[in-house]
Amino acid sequence: MATLKEVISCVSDYDPDALPVAKANEVIRSFIVPASGVEKLRVRAALGRVLAKDVVSPIDVPSHDNSAMDGYAVRSDDLPRTEAIAFTEIGAAFAGKEFAGKVGRAFTGEVGRGECVRVMTGAVMPRNTDTVVIQEAVNVDVKRIAIPPGQEPGQNRRLAGEDLQKGKPALRAGRMLRPADIGLIASLGIGEVSVRRKLKVAFFSTGDELVSVGTKLKAGEVYDSNRYTLWGMLTRLGCEVTDLGVVRDDPEKLEAAFRKAAASADAVVTSGGVSVGEADFTKQMMAKLGEVVFWKIAMRPGRPMAFGRIRARGKSAILFGLPGNPVAVMVTFYHFVRGALLTMMGRSDTDLPLLRAKAETAMRKKPGRTEYQRGILEWKNGEWSVHLTGAQGSGILRSMSEANCFVVLGHEQGAVREGDYVDVMVMDGLV
Ligand code: AMP
Ligand code: MG
Repeated sequence: MATLKEVISCVSDYDPDALPVAKANEVIRSFIVPASGVEKLRVRAALGRVLAKDVVSPIDVPSHDNSAMDGYAVRSDDLPRTEAIAFTEIGAAFAGKEFAGKVGRAFTGEVGRGECVRVMTGAVMPRNTDTVVIQEAVNVDVKRIAIPPGQEPGQNRRLAGEDLQKGKPALRAGRMLRPADIGLIASLGIGEVSVRRKLKVAFFSTGDELVSVGTKLKAGEVYDSNRYTLWGMLTRLGCEVTDLGVVRDDPEKLEAAFRKAAASADAVVTSGGVSVGEADFTKQMMAKLGEVVFWKIAMRPGRPMAFGRIRARGKSAILFGLPGNPVAVMVTFYHFVRGALLTMMGRSDTDLPLLRAKAETAMRKKPGRTEYQRGILEWKNGEWSVHLTGAQGSGILRSMSEANCFVVLGHEQGAVREGDYVDVMVMDGLV
């Protein structure tokens, strides 16, 4: 495992006091590694979990060539060329199975020239046939079926293995299992899958001014909201969370909390204590526990942040020391912590898509930092359109609550004029 110092030495133009978002993420991504540990789960219990091994298909899906439509199965070498030909219906096949030695719902006979078999959607293609003429296209006169010209050989037939081929990976390791995936696993007849164990994440808030819900506020005190937003984001990501409460700005208490977290979790997420006024004191304490860097990131909101690895009782945990301001906590979580934790969970896909939307109003922006303004994205006049949620202060949590997206203004970008197109990240996909 590389040290943080080694990782940083590979990053060009590294400046901890004015670090672009992309460089901070480069350091984080090069430093972290997926946590080990795999468990076997029943398919439904694996919903939302990360696949630890490829799921290899034990069968062809579909297992036989079958009809894609209700109609009549014929041999393609028999298809009429210039005018309709009447075929003799010699039997029927339904969707169902064929047992060894026992006739199921399939048609088990041979189909000769001039003959056809009535087939329903999903029915196994009768022997010798390869083409299905839909029932709407034919004229039926008792058992004589008139088929017109203009049919394509092989039409309306699904081939064995066209969905999934035996021996080939149906799903790759590193994928978070969604409803379609658990259905796909079931379609292979597989009842259990190997998934990564849940990532253990401990979190706490720091600050002498913080009080917990249920207590009356005195002058200068604020309710601790970060432990709620953090709990929500971590839970939605699928982590096993441990809430270590509020820790006072007291070196001994902080050290004890960090030690406890390092000994029990894969990652620790804290809020507060990394701003200019408080960082010195946190830095000294961190130096004892491991390898931690303090950054001023070229972004808004969320400038100060600490990152590294801390150790206790022979164990270690990745540390994300987020700023204290409620919006800054969420923004830094979404743009640094989220991707890192997903990588630690073994996820191979962590990037989120951006949309382009028309700015309904001008937005102030200086080049040289990335901004994540909180916006409301709407479909208007045939295109995506975005406006901001009012005051954008980093302490105004309402701006996050009202928003459905971030307006992502890139590092080099300058001011936005009304009607310009901007990048937007939809919050719904974030956790
Ligand atoms: P800090 O980064 O500790 O200097 O905190 C920056 C600002 O965020 C201060 O106004 C704090 O009161 C506020 N703050 C810090 N932690 C929390 C929290 N857990 N919940 C709500 N506000 C907080
Ligand atoms: Mg504080």
